[in-house]
Amino acid sequence: MIHFGPAGNANSFYEAGHKSSLEIPEYLAAIGLNAYEYQCGRGVNVKRDFCLQLAEKAREYKIFLSLHAPYFINLGTPDPKIMESSLGHIGKSLTAAKDMNATRIVVHPGSVGKGSRSEALARAERLLAQTAKELMPSFPGISLCLETMGKINQLGTLDEVIGLCQLDKCFMPAIDFGHLHARGMGAIKGREEFEEVLDRIASSLGAEVVQNLHVHFSAIEFAKGGEIRHRTFAESEYGPDFEPLAAIIARDGLTPVIISESAGAQTEDALAMKELVQRYRIGEREDV
Ligand SMILES: [Zn+2]
Repeated sequence: MIHFGPAGNANSFYEAGHKSSLEIPEYLAAIGLNAYEYQCGRGVNVKRDFCLQLAEKAREYKIFLSLHAPYFINLGTPDPKIMESSLGHIGKSLTAAKDMNATRIVVHPGSVGKGSRSEALARAERLLAQTAKELMPSFPGISLCLETMGKINQLGTLDEVIGLCQLDKCFMPAIDFGHLHARGMGAIKGREEFEEVLDRIASSLGAEVVQNLHVHFSAIEFAKGGEIRHRTFAESEYGPDFEPLAAIIARDGLTPVIISESAGAQTEDALAMKELVQRYRIGEREDV
């Protein structure tokens, strides 16, 4: 099954009078979505009781849950204090994910900083090796998804993410196509570019990783340094265009989790993506 859903709560959720994220599973199921990425970008400030209740609601309404870990995590840092706090944030994210019954946490690899890119990447590798050894065994069934990032000075090119994922099978990529588009100065132009990304993942991490890929998708504004801000599909001057990816997903029978990170219109754009994939799958009986 393909999963579509928002990153956090869209403006329309609040405009409809909802207040608590505990209402979101029922809300999403009612409008035809089946995934939700809970946002802990500003820290894991969520009580255990809330996590358990969200897990229960997600089970009731068949919503696939993932959790976005704090933005403060910086795996490439040379500062021992930040290394330690990054491990702490990952640990807290894993605990909250376990309580929510979420099977994926999404982590930003971090910044390049003042030294060289290869040094930052080597530090990220060491911290992730430590994560795989010391933290992940306590959280069986949860994958740590490393995200492709939109700014040039962040770690998180496709190759860097693939390399980090090759360290251990507890890691998998979170492919943010908007970010790849932004850091490549508009690189994702059509079907060929999407296919190239998917082929590179399949040949290095395996076809099953592509089959169940964790995808972030949004229109994005960029400049020389890469990403400026996320936009919405309604702002049609911003790419990348989802339609070629919808065609590939339908053609190859892929079953990804697709999270919309559109600015404020995550729910609407997740639905738009679902409809596009459905349009390409017309004639098939399997429910998207
Ligand atoms: Zn992210």
